[in-house]
Amino acid sequence: DGGEGRPAIRALDDRTVRQIAAGEVVERPASVVKELVENSLDADANRISIAVDAGGTEGVRVRDDGVGMDRDDVKMAVEEHTTSKISDVSDLEAGVGTLGFRGEALHTIGAVSRLTLRSKPRGGDGAGTELRVEGGEVTDLRPAGCPAGTVVEVEDLFYNTPARRKFLKTTATEFDHVNTVATQYALANPDVALSLEHDDREVFATEGRGSLESTVLSVYGREVAESMVRVDAEPDAGPVESVTGLVSHPETTRSGRDYLSTFVNGRYVTDRLLREAVLDAYGGQLASDRYPFAVLFVDVPRETVDVNVHPRKMEVRWDHESGVKSAVESAVESALLAEGLVRSSAPRG
Ligand code: ADP
Ligand code: MG
Repeated sequence: DGGEGRPAIRALDDRTVRQIAAGEVVERPASVVKELVENSLDADANRISIAVDAGGTEGVRVRDDGVGMDRDDVKMAVEEHTTSKISDVSDLEAGVGTLGFRGEALHTIGAVSRLTLRSKPRGGDGAGTELRVEGGEVTDLRPAGCPAGTVVEVEDLFYNTPARRKFLKTTATEFDHVNTVATQYALANPDVALSLEHDDREVFATEGRGSLESTVLSVYGREVAESMVRVDAEPDAGPVESVTGLVSHPETTRSGRDYLSTFVNGRYVTDRLLREAVLDAYGGQLASDRYPFAVLFVDVPRETVDVNVHPRKMEVRWDHESGVKSAVESAVESALLAEGLVRSSAPRG
């Protein structure tokens, strides 16, 4: 020890460092789904299929028809801090146009699971490449027949980190998280056909034809889809450029907040300010402890918001909190007012 009963300060070995870092990115199966789907979207996919077993605790598979990778790309992709999305800090400062850029997801997922990746470049002929990684070690790299695009299979998440494995919740709870993540990406990308399967049963499949209404129908069903009201506002002044999307009739509600989906500049966020703005717009029309459905896209100038506060948490830092809140609240309120679903909060006279 360090003397006088103090524990000595020591350098952690590489394996420990890697596993601590992995925990920052990958908390549960839903985080694997998030990272893989973001990679598929960044790869310009038109179709993404997600399949999970036992809530994702036994397996997660994400297949896309994106740009794909050749053999060298595949080898690089699972190394530490490797990315095709930025090259240096000037790219970061200019603003990143992709969902990923840290270059750590595939590497860290591979460190805490058994990962198989198969990929073939779009338009490429001949065979693709298959790569296997177990607990961070590449165990196989070979040519493999596969369609253009990429499929990543992640089995036995946390098999080599029993302490983390122990913190996984029930299959049902883990699946709820997976479903929430898949739903957010489906809603944010109506032009992508995105499907989710659980234990070989289809949960939802969107058409990918670009319509938000039909995407909502696919993920939430007819009752909800038919109660939705269009929000479409472009404030002339203030910090918000536009607020668009769909919100439900005040009587179409659920008991949890899971169905309040907000996106800032296309990115899913869980932001208290935006949720409050939506709820306040209903002006007391909601039953207590009931929450409406909302799929709301808020666009603001890129430099006035920080959506990358933490790789895992989906929080936001705003430059102009109160202006954002009132713009969103009034956009939703006028949509509801136009349908006669709330009473005007303006003083009458
Ligand atoms: P990041 O997304 O931050 O770049 P990742 O570890 O998630 O880091 O991925 C590393 C790299 O692997 C990406 O930059 C990309 O070049 C490549 N890649 C990962 N997934 C796919 C995919 N589904 N299709 C094509 N390329 C991919
Ligand atoms: Mg990524």
